Amino acid sequence: CGIAGYVGQNPDSKAQEVVIAGLRRLEYRGYDSAGIALLTPAFDDPLVVRAVGKLVNLERALEDADIPDATTAIGHTRWATHGEAVVENAHPQVSEDRAVALVHNGIIENYAELKHQLREEGAEFTSDTDTEVVAHLLSKAMADPTLTPWDGELPGISGEQAKVGATMMAAMLAVTRRLVGSYTLLMVHRDAPNVVVASRRSSPLVIGVGEGANYLGSDALAFADYTTSALEIGQDQVVGVTPEGVVVVDRDGETVDPREFNVDFLR
Ligand code: GLU
Repeated sequence: CGIAGYVGQNPDSKAQEVVIAGLRRLEYRGYDSAGIALLTPAFDDPLVVRAVGKLVNLERALEDADIPDATTAIGHTRWATHGEAVVENAHPQVSEDRAVALVHNGIIENYAELKHQLREEGAEFTSDTDTEVVAHLLSKAMADPTLTPWDGELPGISGEQAKVGATMMAAMLAVTRRLVGSYTLLMVHRDAPNVVVASRRSSPLVIGVGEGANYLGSDALAFADYTTSALEIGQDQVVGVTPEGVVVVDRDGETVDPREFNVDFLR
């Protein structure tokens, strides 16, 4: 199982190619299905493409879908823990309104209880995964007027997108407090096409720092072909990644300075 993400600036970034290449570097870890969510300012909802089996199946599905070059992408190879290896259970999982797409490595131990609560409130689910519960919770948190705001800034993002990005950060901080278990989570939202928000607990997440583009991975191998400069993300930290920069906060939303390290094992 593995996770790769990319946030770039140019419409010709071909985020899908970078993320598929990253997932290929992580193939050695094993997986049963794979998927990707793509965004550009021109798309409406995140475009989600998923396939059971090898990455080549996902690549074929992407070709068939004939999707234009994206600037932002999150990708996943799944090792099923909750729900069979079928396309409905592959990641990204999406919120009910399809505005949020989420990839997850790990296990949400209290997902049954959270799912029960969401069902009581009328939610309907399309998968058997623990992950879909988190996608629903993130979208609900973003719409919640009592959500504790995050007052930081995402590098180089302005206007409406900055507001949505800050709400994504606030929602990730609030929702991860309710989760028991282990996770690396990457989230995108329809209305913030240049932002990926991520978090980790007892499961790895590293950020690759590029020029006008930044990378996310469950392992630095995911982006080692593209940059040698990386940031280590600590337990329970939440990260906002844009083409211009990276902001890392602790579980209370306070900014922290991540440790930098050099990724030179492919050079
Ligand atoms: N628990 C999640 C699922 O079964 C993620 C599994 C993984 O780490 O790939 O879908």
